Amino acid sequence: MNQEKLLALMMDLHQDGARQGPGSETETLRALELTRIDPLAKLQVADIGCGTGASTLVLASKLQNAQITAIDIFPEFLDVLSTRAKVMGYSEKIETLTESMDKLSFADESLDLIWSEGAIYNLGFAQGIECWKPMLKTGGVLAVSEITWLNPLPPEEIRQHWNTEYPEIATASEKIAILEHGGYDLIGYFILPSTNWLDSYYTPVEERIHDFLKRHRGDLEAEELIKMERREMDLYSRFKNWFSYGFYVARKR
Ligand code: SAM
Repeated sequence: MNQEKLLALMMDLHQDGARQGPGSETETLRALELTRIDPLAKLQVADIGCGTGASTLVLASKLQNAQITAIDIFPEFLDVLSTRAKVMGYSEKIETLTESMDKLSFADESLDLIWSEGAIYNLGFAQGIECWKPMLKTGGVLAVSEITWLNPLPPEEIRQHWNTEYPEIATASEKIAILEHGGYDLIGYFILPSTNWLDSYYTPVEERIHDFLKRHRGDLEAEELIKMERREMDLYSRFKNWFSYGFYVARKR
């Protein structure tokens, strides 16, 4: 499928979602608690690959004196976040920035906290933590969710799927080793529960599919996208005991 058309269709399907990937307010708060950051501290925060900003808004609600830069490659997502931030009274705290996560313009050692939910895979986990590290202050915190095997010996069908889609998928202990090798000390990690995939992500996507197909009636590429989404949902429902996102919280050494 033509890449530009695919991106436009994906935008259309996901723009109205609270989230563009698995996660939830509860798990964002759980990760924030792990950081042990003082909610009253003056902080410079980046939320990388924020989508429409579900996590950004949670961070803004808890971190009283934070300046949060919410970054995504798609300005359409950031426009939705800006509107939501305005309605919730967080316009002063949240600035949006359309930039690619591999070419961010933050000065070295300028950030206290780097947040990224379900997005680092665009760069690859190992490359992402290395690329973002210079911008983080020494002692600053990285909180990132990343696709993770729950068991090192998954069934062939799901192993093949992920090895094609994202060969960097690995167990939590392998992800933690990459963090430690990359100059971070693990503070803690946990696995996202299946409700974060179903209630906060796949069910809302499923609910938008009917209208999406109505808007794109007769468009074979739109139908193809929905087939891909449904295949992903089917794989998740059959193999959810074998993979999820891990949420990793680590401090820059
Ligand atoms: N963090 C959001 C959430 O949990 O709802 C979005 C997760 S979504 C799976 C991945 C996000 O990464 C999308 O919003 C996408 O636009 C963004 N993205 C993809 N490639 C990017 C890049 N090179 N630079 C910045 N953002 C990117």
